[in-house]
Amino acid sequence: TVEASIPEPQRKAWLEHQTHGFKDKDGFEKEVVRHVETTLARSLYNCDEQAAYSACSLAFRDRLILEWNRTQQRQTFADSKRVYYLSLEFLMGRALDNAMLNIGQKDVAKAGLADLGFRIEDVIEQEHDAALGNGGLGRLAACFLDSLASLNYPAWGYGLRYRYGIFKQEIIDGYQVEVPDYWLDFNPWEFPRHDVTVDIQFYGHVTKRTDDNGKTIATWEGGEIVKAVAYDVPIPGYATPSTNNLRLWSSKAASGEFDFQKFNSGDYENSVADQQRAETISAVLYPNDNLDRGKELRLKQQYFWVAASLYDIVRRFKKSKRAWKEFPDQVAIQLNDTHPTLAVVELQRILVDLEGLDWEEAWNIVTSTFGYTNHTVLPEALEKWSVPLFQHLLPRHLQLIYDINLFFLQSVERKFPKDRDMLARVSIIEESQPKMIRMAHLAIVGSHKVNGVAELHSDLIKTTIFKDFVEVFGPDKFTNVTNGITPRRWLHQANPRLSELISSKTGSNNFLKDLTELAKIEHYKDDADFRKEWAEIKYANKVRLAKHIKNTTGVDVNPSALFDVQVKRIHEYKRQQMNIFGVIHRYLTLKSLSPEERKKFQPRVSIFGGKAAPGYWMAKQIIHLINAVGAVVNNDKDIGDLLKVIFLEDYNVSKAEMIIPASDISEHISTAGTEASGTSNMKFVLNGGLIIGTCDGANIEITREIGEQNIFLFGNLAEDVEDIRHNHTYGSHTVDPDLAKVFEAIEKGTFGEPNDFMGMISAVRDHGDFYLVSDDFHSYIETQELVDKAYRDQDGWITKSIESVARMGFFSSDRCINEYAEGIWNIEPLPIKEQ
Ligand code: PLP
Repeated sequence: TVEASIPEPQRKAWLEHQTHGFKDKDGFEKEVVRHVETTLARSLYNCDEQAAYSACSLAFRDRLILEWNRTQQRQTFADSKRVYYLSLEFLMGRALDNAMLNIGQKDVAKAGLADLGFRIEDVIEQEHDAALGNGGLGRLAACFLDSLASLNYPAWGYGLRYRYGIFKQEIIDGYQVEVPDYWLDFNPWEFPRHDVTVDIQFYGHVTKRTDDNGKTIATWEGGEIVKAVAYDVPIPGYATPSTNNLRLWSSKAASGEFDFQKFNSGDYENSVADQQRAETISAVLYPNDNLDRGKELRLKQQYFWVAASLYDIVRRFKKSKRAWKEFPDQVAIQLNDTHPTLAVVELQRILVDLEGLDWEEAWNIVTSTFGYTNHTVLPEALEKWSVPLFQHLLPRHLQLIYDINLFFLQSVERKFPKDRDMLARVSIIEESQPKMIRMAHLAIVGSHKVNGVAELHSDLIKTTIFKDFVEVFGPDKFTNVTNGITPRRWLHQANPRLSELISSKTGSNNFLKDLTELAKIEHYKDDADFRKEWAEIKYANKVRLAKHIKNTTGVDVNPSALFDVQVKRIHEYKRQQMNIFGVIHRYLTLKSLSPEERKKFQPRVSIFGGKAAPGYWMAKQIIHLINAVGAVVNNDKDIGDLLKVIFLEDYNVSKAEMIIPASDISEHISTAGTEASGTSNMKFVLNGGLIIGTCDGANIEITREIGEQNIFLFGNLAEDVEDIRHNHTYGSHTVDPDLAKVFEAIEKGTFGEPNDFMGMISAVRDHGDFYLVSDDFHSYIETQELVDKAYRDQDGWITKSIESVARMGFFSSDRCINEYAEGIWNIEPLPIKEQ
């Protein structure tokens, strides 16, 4: 029992008056009208689609929060182990459609909204994406939350409530322009918990004294305090009452609204300065994907979020009155990349400094609690913090890191006596100028399991960046959990007609809970009606995207053309530059042909989308070239429908839900060994699109599942990349002849001012072609020709498409979460008893 619980005699009245949310269409309409009229203070005469969206969302939110309450009660009474997923990014997208589908009430809402004068599609469109993430890593966290709730695992997500999520991208005159994304104007999906706050300390100094038993006691004093306020977002499971929690922390000045003394003495401006400084911590998401910049505010964000989350987790554990050694039996914490690694140090600080445990005992608890997921081998993405910066902001944590490192290096020394190079390589501290803290090393030392996110990636971390740690800890500490995606959002919600066709053949919607049931549709791959409908659905999705293209870019595209899509963050390693060079090659080829010969060509629409980090000059140049090529090609009368080049602005989750189901072929063409997994590759195949890709990340496992005949692979292998790069530097390096012609056309000014694009050309020609664009170009072009040929055989193409979808069961995030639960977290789902 908790202190605030209602006394036994009054509970009857309480239970009699308990609310349950709407049950049917009539109840739904009542709730919508009530919310319009009271919560929103609008009326029958003043209710637009935005108000209908808000009221509809509030009606669903009410239901969710009741289920949330019950889920939490169930979990507390069961007293079982919980998992906490710490992620600095949650790329959730829209919530309403997802909530309606997961609860199984979309039909009710559709009919109810129609009664009240609204089309459900228009209402859904009103919602602003919750875009608290950059790309794959943040979207993975969102898919995991969906699976954790759907599988009834007791789980919480912890993140930051950014006031500004990832910026909105506008394309102006072919250039990316960033616009702030203020998304919190009215967000019906969050519950502010003004009573759940934590004081977070920064700066200050450490004093040490010895107690009566000779034990050293460290105290962190002084500095400044910032308040963390909890905002809870309910996460509904699919076809289950389980509703988990995503707790996001918002920063506020600890001293209240503003400094009254300053205010009263006439210093109005400075009276609010503290408040603003505090609020800056959770103000904005850093817009870098796979890049570490080492900014102080980012470190502040990390500590703020981690300290608030751990305080919350520890408080919950303490209510159980268990002994500390039982902490890892009750709590599993997963670190999504190294961003939350300070949690390792913070838990050790809580146990040693605040709870008085011995170092050894505390460290055993810490290392049994944490698991670390590595997301990249790219050196520029591996987090490091400068020691002087750390010393200033978190003086006690720096001492603890030095102690952790000392004990770790002593253990390494015992195993590898006199191997000073080994000690230097594995040390948490890099002996550079200034010294740097290697967060990945700290995460490995502080966790009991380290996993990569696809087989190739997990092998690579064991043989390259973490090789020494495999020797130190043994191979069992390192494991693989291949990423997955939630079929609820990425099939059922994004592609309702395909989902319906599949359920008509599998017999139910159960494939959405057990994706391996997709295998059943392979029996129908020769069924003429099934195939016809399969093709019609893809075509309808392409028509919808073509309309969007027309509305947003003004360009007419033919839905019968082959839609070739590359949507993801713009990055040199993802090689959008190779794609656009390939498009230019196609354009030059078409121009060189007679009109008769041209007619034999497969018409294509090349569709790009994705944001460049605001400071990433080369990525912005790539966006500019894509737009410049589009401006020429799309207006060339010789070309017509044979080739169109489209850049869709502001790629985000809700756009992805429209674009992905409309793809014929999508491009996952990273330099082998650079993309840890990729998840959009899985989404495209699940929606019946084929892939052109390199042997990288999860492409390899996708190939294994769907069969080599159903994917277009090309390019050099990861195992050869290092030698090729070495050759670029020390051997002869000539640009592929077809690519040289592309460069020539750009340099002639075919697409505008050549100087605007010289960075991309010289990266290949003069600066070692680090991403092997030239080496892979010939193989890429040849494989694109195979794609054209395969597409012209529509019958064969549809067979490939059906077979691929049927074999995608492995890539559900449910499978993935079950692997984490069993292999890393040691937790069980909580059974749901009928209430
Ligand atoms: N951005 C959004 C909006 C996504 O939905 C996804 C995944 O599908 C990604 C980025 C990651 O894409 P990729 O795996 O191709 O890097």
